[in-house]
Amino acid sequence: MNYYSLNKKAPTTSFKDAVIKGLAPDKGLYFPESITLLPKSFFEEIDDFSYEEIAFEAIKQFVAPDIPEAELKQIISETLSFDFPVVEINKKISTLELFHGPTMAFKDVGARFMARCLGYFNKDNSREVTVLVATSGDTGGAVANGFLGVEGVKVVILYPSGKVSDIQEKQLTTLKKNITALEVDGVFDDCQDMVKQAFLDESIINKMQLTSANSINVARWLPQMFYYFFAYKQLHNQHKDIVFSVPSGNFGNICAGMMAQQLGLPIHHFIASNNENDVVTEYLKTKLYQPKPSVATISNAMDVGNPSNFVRIQEIFKNNFEALKSNLTSYSYSDEKTREALKELYNDYNYVADPHGAVGYLGCKDYLKMNPNAHCVFLETAHATKFLDVIEDVIRENIELPEQIAAVMDKKKKSIKIGAYEELKNYLLSSI
Ligand SMILES: *Cc1c(COP(=O)(O)O)cnc(C)c1O
Repeated sequence: MNYYSLNKKAPTTSFKDAVIKGLAPDKGLYFPESITLLPKSFFEEIDDFSYEEIAFEAIKQFVAPDIPEAELKQIISETLSFDFPVVEINKKISTLELFHGPTMAFKDVGARFMARCLGYFNKDNSREVTVLVATSGDTGGAVANGFLGVEGVKVVILYPSGKVSDIQEKQLTTLKKNITALEVDGVFDDCQDMVKQAFLDESIINKMQLTSANSINVARWLPQMFYYFFAYKQLHNQHKDIVFSVPSGNFGNICAGMMAQQLGLPIHHFIASNNENDVVTEYLKTKLYQPKPSVATISNAMDVGNPSNFVRIQEIFKNNFEALKSNLTSYSYSDEKTREALKELYNDYNYVADPHGAVGYLGCKDYLKMNPNAHCVFLETAHATKFLDVIEDVIRENIELPEQIAAVMDKKKKSIKIGAYEELKNYLLSSI
């Protein structure tokens, strides 16, 4: 598959180059040149396919011929080493739990898949690739863990000192091996600025191969299609009009769902469930897309003021507003509403959700008022314990730490403190 830049000012490129570059030279996001429907029989017989087989069918056209089939199957098998259960909340609403991976966030799948693709592309290359990422919390852990032990790839993570939760810090700083955590005296934006500066610094990029691992990378974005197929496999015998409510920030996850739909997966409708960062909700109301600075909320992985993947959604619908609107509904909710939803899920259904999932649940409830015949699945994008302070305040009960989290809490933190860009540069150059 070839990929073109959505800014249309860069040459088309292979899957391999799109993965290694991340962003096109004209700063556009990459998008596949074609999308071929999967055969009807595949959906009719989906019960006979394993998750690994389903994932392979879904993604192979986007990867071929750069990764041979046998290697792709191996990558998928290593990526999907945990479960994706659908749990019924009530007769009309279910949740798809995407938090059973090593860092208990749905980003584990994209990070693991991308890491292994990069490892494959780099295996005959004597030059190491360095993945440089800035994190405000969740992404860093999934990326670090996904790349842990992948040969030929080194990961350097910048995080703001004192601004991530204890659990998140442990997930970043206790891995060792090919993962280094740089603890920045500053806020998230300082981390991000340093990373951007490094990508433009010729004294660095002439000496080492630097790449990024955020959700704009096609190898992180596309494997998120799998979730929707897995949910469909679990639900299609009981329910007809399946609707997904996706807690959205950068809109990568929901956009991957729309790609699954383009492959022929029978998805009735999408709901983008947002916190108070409501650029897309407003766009669907007013037809005006107006990015704005993000506001802080309790569902902080969705605090995005200009969702980077929205241009891909526009491309899927060929920039046709009406076509998009007939397939996508968007709602926005306050923190107060989100807390009420957390309580309701716990009191009425004995379900402990996280703040992002709770926003998704609210989206389902509102959509079902107008469309009572649908079955709505909200994506649970993180485990509740990752947001303990919010959850325990609402539920007032101690939650037992899952084993993935308990295991890192006992490990010793190791980080390198830096304050200014020069220190990042010195670190990178000294590591070659
Ligand atoms: C990243 C993230 C989201 C938002 O996903 P996008 O693909 O950016 O829309 C939602 N919930 C959690 C827990 C996340 O980490």
